Amino acid sequence: MILKNVLTVDPINGERVATIEIDSGRIVSLKESFDVTSDQIVMPGFFDPHTHAAIGIDTMSLNEHKLREWEHFLYSQGVTSFLPTTVSADHEAIVSAGSFLEQYIEQHETTSVKGVHYEGPFINPSRKGAQNPSFIREASVEEIGSLPLKSCRLITMAPELPGFKQAIRFLAKKDVVISAGHTDATYEEMKEAYSLGCKRMTHFPNGMRGLHHREIGCVGAGIALPMSLELIVDGIHSAPDFVKLVYSLKGPEKIILITDSMSAAGLDDGSYDLGGLDVEVRRGRATLRDGTLAGSTLLFSAAVRNFREFTDCTLIELSRVSSYNALSEVGIPDRGRVMEGFVADLVVMNKELEVLKTIMSGRVVYDAA
Ligand code: FE
Repeated sequence: MILKNVLTVDPINGERVATIEIDSGRIVSLKESFDVTSDQIVMPGFFDPHTHAAIGIDTMSLNEHKLREWEHFLYSQGVTSFLPTTVSADHEAIVSAGSFLEQYIEQHETTSVKGVHYEGPFINPSRKGAQNPSFIREASVEEIGSLPLKSCRLITMAPELPGFKQAIRFLAKKDVVISAGHTDATYEEMKEAYSLGCKRMTHFPNGMRGLHHREIGCVGAGIALPMSLELIVDGIHSAPDFVKLVYSLKGPEKIILITDSMSAAGLDDGSYDLGGLDVEVRRGRATLRDGTLAGSTLLFSAAVRNFREFTDCTLIELSRVSSYNALSEVGIPDRGRVMEGFVADLVVMNKELEVLKTIMSGRVVYDAA
C-alpha cells in the first residue's frame, strides 16, 4: 500500500509531507516530498487505554461477536489500539472478563485489543464516583494474584488503601502499570506512591481528592509530580479552561487522552447500566440518579478534536496525547510512530480532524468514503 504525498505527523520526528510505503503490515519507507502540500493528515492510530463500553457493548459482558463489533466501531474513530476496562464487581465477574480478553488476544493475531485495564475494585469508597460501592474492597496480593494478569496492562487503585504497597511490589514483577484513581490520598501519600513506582493518574481530576492550598491532595500531586495524567476531554468532566491549564502546566508529554466511555457512547440518550447502577444519559451527559457523572459518551476522534480546540496544540503534540504517550507507558514499543520499521497502525484525517481512513497492520479497516 502507498499513501502518496500526505502530511505525516510523528511524535518525535515531527511533520513532513511524504509518501509512505507499507508492506507486510509495517511502514517500509517514508520519503519526503518537497514543494508539495497536502490536505490529508496521517497520524499514528489512536490508543484508548480506558474505555468501559460503546454502542451497547460492555467489557463486563463480552463475547467474540460483540468484541469484534466494538473493534469495528472504534476503527471509525481512528482507534487501532484499546484496553477494554472493567468496573468494580465481584471477583468472578472480573476474572471472567479478564480471561475472555486474554483468550481473545491469544486467538487473534491482529486485533486492536491490547490487553485489559482493571479499574477497581481496590479503590476508596469515599471517591467511588460511579463505581458500585457493594463491590469496592481492600487490595490483597492474594486476590490480585488470582486475576488474569498476562494481558493486564493497567490497574487503577487507590494508593492510600491498606494492601497497596504489597500490591505495587507484586505487580511490578508482572509488568502491570499502576494508575492512581478513585483516591482520597493526601499529597504525602501520593508522593510515597510515586516513589514506589506509581507514575500515572486515572481520569484526572475526576474521582480524587481536590487541591486545597494547605493540603494539595491528588490534584496537586498530579501537577507537582512528574505523573502522566489521563484526561476525559469532553468539556463535561472538566472545563475546557482546566484542560488548557493542565496542558500549559504539564506539557504534551504527560497527557493521555481517554474516553472512559460507557455503553451509550455512539448511541442515543436514554437509560443504561454501568456495573449494576442505573445511568441516565441526557444530551450525551451520563449520570447516576444523584447527578454523579457515570463515565462518558465521548468518542475518541471527538476527544482529539476537543483537545486541539481547547489547547491550540500542534499536530505533533496531538499525536503524543492520542497515541504515543500511552503506548510507550504500557510497553507497546512497535506502534505510535509514523516512521520506517513501525507497525502501520495509522489514521488518515482531513484538516478538520475528521477520520477519513483507518489502517491497522497495513490493512484499511475503515473508509469513510
Ligand atoms: Fe473511574
